[in-house]
Amino acid sequence: MMQRTAKLLPATDDSIREAAAALCAGKLVAFPTETVYGLGGDAFNPRALARIFEAKGRPRFDPLIIHIAALEALGRIADLRALDAASRRRLDRLASALWPGPLSLILPKLPSVPDLATSGLPTVAVRWPAQPAARQLILRSTGAVAAPSANPFGGLSPTRAEHVRDSLGDRIDYILDGGPSAVGLESTVLDLATGAPRILRPGGVSREQIEAIIGPVPAGITGTGPGLQSPGQLPSHYAPATRLEACEREAMLSLPERPGEGWLFFSGASRDTWLGNLAGDKGGAAIDRLWTLSEAGNPAEAAARLFQTLHEMDERGLSCIHAELPPEAGLGAAIRDRLLRAGKRG
Ligand code: AMP
Ligand code: MG
Repeated sequence: MMQRTAKLLPATDDSIREAAAALCAGKLVAFPTETVYGLGGDAFNPRALARIFEAKGRPRFDPLIIHIAALEALGRIADLRALDAASRRRLDRLASALWPGPLSLILPKLPSVPDLATSGLPTVAVRWPAQPAARQLILRSTGAVAAPSANPFGGLSPTRAEHVRDSLGDRIDYILDGGPSAVGLESTVLDLATGAPRILRPGGVSREQIEAIIGPVPAGITGTGPGLQSPGQLPSHYAPATRLEACEREAMLSLPERPGEGWLFFSGASRDTWLGNLAGDKGGAAIDRLWTLSEAGNPAEAAARLFQTLHEMDERGLSCIHAELPPEAGLGAAIRDRLLRAGKRG
């Protein structure tokens, strides 16, 4: 692979223009979004798409989400006439309520989208991000930017420009720094292409939010390899280098403290209960190995801090990370999904 050093620029008007021109020339640009940082390439340029897979070490069977910033672009990517009337209605309602935002929709694909972007599937994933720099970048390029998360395949997702620089900085052309990602979890992937809608990946928009707009939506079958409904839903993903054990709250609260192990609590209440359960002053020894995602146990705040906290913990040379699983409600479902995958090996 060719070595290069990414140009790391604050996401100002001028640098967005420069990066958009680079995208049009087939270069790779990492950019901030409200979910996580994306690794962007022109969605219509197969060479740029091939470089995305190469830079990430991403298997070719794992299709990319195409990012747009205007409805006009949707008509250049998705074959909307192939949708039945009910699916078309759901698309209109969801797009007007939740776009721009952390929702990716699976739709029938137009032949103009290279097969590489969709891993040969007849469908395409489309999202309209809300982050202003992302929107400007997309609008000033070809209007359609394929972008998986800007990290090596299988690892922790990047929620800051430094995460991208440290992991992919020698393999891509630009990194736009727009500060920390506000949502901090990948988009929810919802299949609208096959009749009954299904959630293929829980994410930054909750099932409850979607159901309030289009009615009941079952979770999809998640896959383990090629040919499955959402090929990227591999059992092991989002993993820190440190071994992680995801634990239901009750089980976590009765675990003993051991030297060198790290503790990731969902709420301040869980942490304090665990500390209270320890004999003597054992908690004192653990104090610099404790992290709490949200003092108040707020799922949105916990989601926003999840990957940043795991990056921090990963740098501490811990022998193991014990991570508390939050309740399923709202964004809790997506946090649980990430922690459970982070805890699977291979
Ligand atoms: P990432 O870009 O790494 O956040 O992952 C994108 C997710 O969307 C992966 O889980 C993909 O498998 C999924 N995805 C993308 N395109 C499709 C598609 N056409 N059908 C089903 N799932 C898709
Ligand atoms: Mg990813």
